[in-house]
Parts: sequence; C-alpha cells; structure tokens
Amino acid sequence: METLAIHTGHHRTHEGEHSEPLFLTSSYVFDDAEQAADRFAGRAEGNIYSRTGNPTVRIFEERLAVLEGGERALATASGMAAILSVCMALLKAGDHVVVSQSVFGPSVALFQMFARFGVSTSFVALDDVPAWERACTDRTRLLFLETPSNPLCVLGDLVALAAIAHRHGAKLVVDNTFCTPALQRPLALGADLVVHSATKYIDGQGRALGGAIVGEERVVTGEIFPFVRTAGPVMSPFNAWIFLKGLETLSLRMKAHSETALALAEWLATQPLVERVYYPYLASHPQYDLARAQQSAGGGVVSFTLKDADARRAFAFVDGCRLLSRTANLGDTKTTVTHPATTTHGRLTPEARRAGGVEDGLIRLSIGLEDRDDLMADLETGLRAAAVVEGVR
Ligand SMILES: *Cc1c(COP(=O)(O)O)cnc(C)c1O
Repeated sequence: METLAIHTGHHRTHEGEHSEPLFLTSSYVFDDAEQAADRFAGRAEGNIYSRTGNPTVRIFEERLAVLEGGERALATASGMAAILSVCMALLKAGDHVVVSQSVFGPSVALFQMFARFGVSTSFVALDDVPAWERACTDRTRLLFLETPSNPLCVLGDLVALAAIAHRHGAKLVVDNTFCTPALQRPLALGADLVVHSATKYIDGQGRALGGAIVGEERVVTGEIFPFVRTAGPVMSPFNAWIFLKGLETLSLRMKAHSETALALAEWLATQPLVERVYYPYLASHPQYDLARAQQSAGGGVVSFTLKDADARRAFAFVDGCRLLSRTANLGDTKTTVTHPATTTHGRLTPEARRAGGVEDGLIRLSIGLEDRDDLMADLETGLRAAAVVEGVR
C-alpha cells in the first residue's frame, strides 16, 4: 500500500520530472481537427477541457482508487460536492434514502434539502442494525453513513449494513473521511461507494478543500461522472497536486495520529475531572471488537466529557489549552480542540443534541502530529483551568 501510494498514476513526461507535474491549464490543444472531432465524439481518449479531465487530477484519482481497492475514483471540489454528486447521479423523485443520525451536519442538511425534489430520508441510529432494516422500503436506493461517527466515535457495522442494503436492492455509501483507506477499506467489507472529504486527513495539513468518490467503474464512470462533468463540481488541479502528495504520507501519518490518540485517550480516562472518553480502540469502547475487526487503528479523533460540566466548564478547558488550536477543523498536523455543543452541533435543538449524546461537557480533539508529552502537558493545563470552574450537578 505504501508503495502504491507513492508511485501510482504518475506517467513521467518528456521533461523527466521526479515529482508529479502540476497541469494548471483549463483546456488542451488538438493535433488536428479530426482529433478534436474524435475526442468530442468519444471515439478517442484524450484531454479536452479540465472540467472533463485533467492529468494532475487523474494522478490523484488513480492513487486513491488503488488505496481504497476501487476500480475508479472521481475527484470533486469538496467533500460535500462528492456527496451531492452521488445523490444527484443516483436518485430521482420518489426515491428514499436511509441515513445515519450521526453524519456530518451539512450532510444531514443536504439530505433534508432533497425533500424539495421528492427524495425522502429516514434518519436512524448508526449502531442500531435492525433499525436500518426496518427503515428500508421498496423505494430505498441508498444507505449512507460515516464510521466512526463524529464526535462520539460510534461505529457502523459495514458488513451487516451492506447485507441490508443489498437485500433491498440499494447501495451502501460510506463516508470514509475519518479513517481513510490507510485504516479502513469499506469496499472490501461490502460497501458500494466510498466518499471522502480530502480536506481532512488526505491533505493532512489543513491547506485545501477537496473530495472524492470511489467505486465500480460502471457506477462511477458510467453514472456519476456524467453528472460531475456536466454540473462542474470538479477538483482544481492545484488542490489535486496537494492531495496526491498527501496520499504519499497518509499511511505514516494515520499510524502516528492513531498512536498518539490512543495514548492520550488512555491517559484522559485516568484523569479525575474526566467522566468518559470516546475512542474506538479503547478497550472500554462498547464496539471495541467491531473496531478491531474493521479498522486497523483507532484514528485521530478522541472525544471526552468533563465531570459535572456545563458549557462554562467546557469553555474553561478549551480556553485553558495553549498549544491546541481552537478550530472546528480536523485531520491536521496541528491538534485541534472543539466544543461540539456550541459549534459543529450548535444548530441542533438542546433536546436533539442531548439525545445524540452531545452534552455540554463534551470536548472533541483531533490529535495532530506533535510530541505526545507536549500534548499531554497542554491537556493537563486545560483540565486545571476547568477544575477551578465550579461544576454543576
Ligand atoms: C468535513 C467533512 C465533510 C465535508 O467535506 P468538505 O470538504 O468540508 O466539503 C464530509 N464528511 C465528513 C465526515 C467530514 O468531516
């Protein structure tokens, strides 16, 4: 995998470049009129215009497809553009989708918007397998989820949910942003399509927005590509160049994120002010066995609740940290700290938030690549700041 991540997709040009070339060009020149006619008619392969294809974007796509074990990957302008493109290509009025309650907030909002176009959505609990079965109807076309979930690290059983999808003639679509193919390969477990926000770990350094769709050639090229090339939510070549270089170090980075995250999760669980820690590779995780079966490590996101905490105590923790970045983004070399109840999940009603387990005392960390002891020291500083704020009962 590590070798493929570094070598796939680059066909060296006449310049003999060692690093992958960046083709910043919107259009391409034809040898003669007949070649142009052949390309436009689809009789000959070749570049036409960067909305329909770009050599740098193609390197990224080939690399990601190989890493996910899919036949074809299609790059998009953002993670949301990837999800939108899957839905626009595969759904029509009258169709129904089943979606995990615990997906990225804008993904929930997107599926709700589809109601205007006659596509209905049932939201179900990610870890309640029978609920997915019950939610399926003869109009269900897609099942959509992320695993592990954000911020509580709940897992979806990919093998079980793929079986349910296929029994109902539907496709299982997995947002693999959190694990990336370095830790989890949903297609091998039965998923039909993988989507990504490359903005997170695939970049890994917080620089660019991008997304991708991976799956069978027949579906990705045959059904989804016609929407993307027409509607235009394509990835810029510059961003593709960033992401394809990101793929080269993805495996190393995901291992390092996961090792530090596990060590810090174990340490947090021993702290007197910490009520509960959420991390897939903690032995206390209720789906620990499933995590070991479908992910090769726990990933970079760790969440925890502070004891007797209202938002004030949680804010004191967040503001007490010196090294951690206060930002809602994740998947960066820099460790980030977020208070989900007032940021990423702030638009939910307090009841919906609590029902989903996003309490006022919940903190989400995206563990970066800094020194583990420095991170631990900073968490300790944050915990001390939270401790002097009077708790609530
Ligand atoms: C960030 C994110 C998205 C959306 O990606 P963008 O690149 O911001 O459009 C989708 N899914 C998950 C799990 C994410 O974290």
